Amino acid sequence: MRREKFEYYRDGLLAGDRNVLSKSISIIESQSEEDHQLAMRILSSLPAQESIRIGISGAPGVGKSTFIEAFGQTLIEDKHKLAVLAIDPSSPFGGGSILGDKTRMSELSRLKDVYIRPSASLNHVGGTGAKTYQTMLLCEAAGFDRIIIETVGVGQTEAVARQMVDFFLLLAQPASGDELQGIKKGIMEHVDGIVVNKADNNLIKEAKRTQMELREALHYLSTEESPKVLTCSSTEGAGMKEIKEWILDFCGERKENGGFAQRRKEQSEAVLVGLMQNSLMKFISSQQPVKDQQSLKLNELKANKLNLIQALDQFERWLQNQSLSD
Ligand code: GDP
Repeated sequence: MRREKFEYYRDGLLAGDRNVLSKSISIIESQSEEDHQLAMRILSSLPAQESIRIGISGAPGVGKSTFIEAFGQTLIEDKHKLAVLAIDPSSPFGGGSILGDKTRMSELSRLKDVYIRPSASLNHVGGTGAKTYQTMLLCEAAGFDRIIIETVGVGQTEAVARQMVDFFLLLAQPASGDELQGIKKGIMEHVDGIVVNKADNNLIKEAKRTQMELREALHYLSTEESPKVLTCSSTEGAGMKEIKEWILDFCGERKENGGFAQRRKEQSEAVLVGLMQNSLMKFISSQQPVKDQQSLKLNELKANKLNLIQALDQFERWLQNQSLSD
C-alpha cells in the first residue's frame, strides 16, 4: 500500500497532474510522522528540474498581486508554466491566508499553465521557510519552470523568500518624503532589482523621481554594480516584457559565470541546516527526561517557587549537564 501510495504521488507529479501536486503539498505541510516519511520519500525521488525562481516583495498596497497578474502572463509566454507561492506572515500555523488566494489574481488563476498556492511557512524553527522550499521543488517536478515567491515586505518573510530565489525583486510605488525614506531604509542588502509600480497617468512623474532616488540609494548601498531600478504599470501592462528580459538576462549571465549554481548551492545548504535544526528540536523535545524537566520547571513557576528567569536558568543548566549516549 505504501509503495503504491508513493508511486501515485511520484508518477502523478512527473506527469504534471495538478491534483496530485496539491495533494503532495498537503502532505509536505502535514504534521503527521507518516506523512513526513512519505514526503521525504517523494521529494528524494524527484529529479532536479531547470527553473527560474523569482522573489517578489513589497509593502501591502504597492500592487504585488496586480503586478503578478500582469507579469505572470508575460512569464508563461513561450510555453512556460508558472507557480505562484505566497508566504503569508499572518498565519504562521496555517489557514486564514491573506496572500496568494485565487480571488487576488483572478485572470492568472484561470490559466491552465498557472498554479497559485498560499504557503504558510514560518511555523518552522529558524524560519527557513523549509516547507515553501519543498513546495517549490514539487511544483518544479510537476513542470512549473517559472516560480514566483510572493511576500509582504515585512521582516522575516522577506529574508525567507530571498533565501530561495534566483532573483529577488522589490516592488515599490511612487513616493516622497517619509514614505520614500521608509522604502530606502527597508531595502535589503541583497535585492537584485527594484521596480517602481504605478508609473501611469498622473503618477508618472513621481514614479520617475522615485526611480532616481532609489537608484541613488542603491548606488550607496552596493559594493559591486548596483542593481537596476525600473518602472512599470501593472494595470496597463507597461514594462512587463522589459522586466522579464532583464530577469532572464540576469539569470543567464549568472549561469555563465557560475553565480547561479553557487547561489542555489548556498541556499540548499541553508535549508538543510534549518531542517536539521527542526529534526533536532523534535528529537530532543520527545525525550522523556526533557519532557519531565520541562513540566517540573513549569510547575515550579506556576506554584511561584521560581520566577521565569530562575526556571529558565535551571532548565538550561540541567540541559547542559545532560550527555548524549546511545
Ligand atoms: P498588494 O497589496 O501589494 O498585492 O497590492 P494590490 O495589487 O492589491 O494593489 C493595491 C492597489 O493599487 C489596487 O487598488 C490596485 O488597483 C492599485 N494598483 C496596482 N497596480 C497599479 C498600477 O500599475 N497603477 C495604478 N494606478 N494602480 C495600481
